[in-house]
Amino acid sequence: MRGRRYLLVRSVPFVVSTLLAVGGCDLLHKEPSSTVPAPAKDSERRAAADSIDAARLRAAASEPQNWLTHGGTYAEQRFSPLDQINDGNVQKLGLAWSYDTNTTRGLEATPLVVDGVIYTTGSWSIVYAIDARNGNELWKYDPQVPRETGPKACCDVVNRGVALYKGKVFVGTLDGRLVALDAGNGKPVWEVVTVDQSRPYTITGAPRVVEGKVIIGNGGAELGVRGYVSAYDSDTGKMAWRFYTVPGDPSQPFESPALERAARTWKGGEWWKVGGGGTVWDSMAYDPDLHLLYIGTGNGSPWSRFVRSPGGGDNLYLSSILALNPTNGELVWYYQETPGDTWDFTATQHIILAELPIKGRLRKVILHAPKNGFFYVIDRQTGELLSAEKFVEATWADRVDLKTGRPVLAKGTDYRDKTVVVKPSPHGAHNWQPMSFNPKTGLVYIPTHDIPMIFGVNHKWKYRPGHWNTGTDFTLIKEVPRNLVAGALLAWDPVRQKEVWRAPYKGPWNGGTLTTAGNLVFQGTADGRFVAYRADNGTKLWEAPSGSGIVAAPVTYSVDGEQYVAVMAGWGGAFALAAGDAAAAAGNNHPIGRLLTFKLNGAATLPAAQKPRPPLPATAAPKVAHAVITKGEDLYAIHCQVCHGSGATSGGVLPDLRYVAPAVQASINSIVLDGALRGNGMPAFRDVMNEDDVAAILAYVQQRAADAAK
Ligand code: CA
Repeated sequence: MRGRRYLLVRSVPFVVSTLLAVGGCDLLHKEPSSTVPAPAKDSERRAAADSIDAARLRAAASEPQNWLTHGGTYAEQRFSPLDQINDGNVQKLGLAWSYDTNTTRGLEATPLVVDGVIYTTGSWSIVYAIDARNGNELWKYDPQVPRETGPKACCDVVNRGVALYKGKVFVGTLDGRLVALDAGNGKPVWEVVTVDQSRPYTITGAPRVVEGKVIIGNGGAELGVRGYVSAYDSDTGKMAWRFYTVPGDPSQPFESPALERAARTWKGGEWWKVGGGGTVWDSMAYDPDLHLLYIGTGNGSPWSRFVRSPGGGDNLYLSSILALNPTNGELVWYYQETPGDTWDFTATQHIILAELPIKGRLRKVILHAPKNGFFYVIDRQTGELLSAEKFVEATWADRVDLKTGRPVLAKGTDYRDKTVVVKPSPHGAHNWQPMSFNPKTGLVYIPTHDIPMIFGVNHKWKYRPGHWNTGTDFTLIKEVPRNLVAGALLAWDPVRQKEVWRAPYKGPWNGGTLTTAGNLVFQGTADGRFVAYRADNGTKLWEAPSGSGIVAAPVTYSVDGEQYVAVMAGWGGAFALAAGDAAAAAGNNHPIGRLLTFKLNGAATLPAAQKPRPPLPATAAPKVAHAVITKGEDLYAIHCQVCHGSGATSGGVLPDLRYVAPAVQASINSIVLDGALRGNGMPAFRDVMNEDDVAAILAYVQQRAADAAK
């Protein structure tokens, strides 16, 4: 074992300002309207969804009994005015019902709720319609994503939810399709392929509907793609516009003037062959008054700028917030958070729109806590940076200069000719797990991660289509020990740019957050609990077991005058797959997928949890030369750990190879080299490895099994 043991990757006083307001100022005072019974018939459900139009989406805050769009409203605050469940009675919260998805991969969706029907998604982009009062399944739609698509997804076969508009449910599928379903019966109405399926594009993000257009992005920059966002007519599926976030092949014409400007910031290299990155894989928000659609863009592809754009440059529009005109997709302004990104620092994290008093003046702002560890407050009309402070330890930059809007890089972080330990890691100080903003407390509730990463350039890197292409040296990452990582829920004052309270956890990769007018914050945890805190001071008020680690964000809704809180429970995602021992230690690593729904005095019983994994049987160490083991260790780090876990230790989602190695020895070459288990999502590696390589990996895994069983 080499000396270095680090991480893999990928993928905070108290001020309540009475001036704080949100999109609709009256939303704090609305009572839940008395709701009609959940529509039992297809035609009733279709009719309920039919009336969701542009006006209703714009005024989503005025119907708190529903959750009509991904972030609750276009402002994406994930704040609910419902307060029947509150800091005085949350101790009486109990399970109302649970719905089993029968899946064992990560669940990341935010459910939508309309008039007593829940629309949500699970692994492999499956869509579920569920009666919000009792958990009865109304319909289920399986887009039949080919399992061979799995390895294209850096970070699990997840999906973060649907959009609703005029009687249709819209879902982006892992293999790059956008599908419109009849909300009544779940039957497809239209379907369009939004990506070049010969490239490693995936869709995991939730669509949004703006002015009758369905907006969808995609991911894939770890393997190598060019990022873009597209808009489709919600009636017909016809594409209305597409905006590429990074320049393509410079010998071809530019798709937009914005890209012509961007191309001047890419220097040397042949990034377009890999793709360049800048994928729009998650966050969006919309301001109807300013008529601006905000999107967050991802990291560079490959990660390392030293190989992607060796002449340097900012590499626009990587790691940026872009304000687009939703009518035609033209760029209005941009703010780049990590110029020349070389650390997988995406800006795809949840974008929140709020109105805050900044230096005595009420400003329309964006609140953003991207992977890079700084909390940004940006004027959303102009893109002007108003403030930026670290919300976790961030070693790559000293500060952000407010005059230039640029980070001041820390000394000694250039990893061109040496290895450098950097915080945050590619898992991010905050990743896709949505944060929330409570206008009553004035605080933002951020699921944070404290994880280091060791960076070095892979000087032998060459583009390998269909595999990971980061340009960094993964052999530096042997194991992710649990004592190197931490995670906490952080309550952050965005005006004073200060931490107000925190709730530390056993490890990172806890769930997204929901905050309510009942002075509550809800969050699921990696270690398998669902917790409620007092929003103003962080006192833990209640918790319940969830049977599985939770990474998704909760929602709340009301049916028949009764308030419910619902969350998808299912351990998975990038850290759960890749972080090995640290993931196993942080998470309830026996994932079983469920939608859990709670109400006051709920008395349902949580179905039995899966049995813990048995201890490893005693295994003899392989009789091979030590050099073979170390070769296998390097190859495992390069090809295997992003899915099966660093250090040959599974974080609980995919098979732990230490357990399965004996059973598959005879067929190992057909599995690893020729793709015998393609149908399960295990790719073929014949183009990058040979039999000797596979034997070395097997020997390394056997050695790890023998070590663990000692
Ligand atoms: Ca990434």
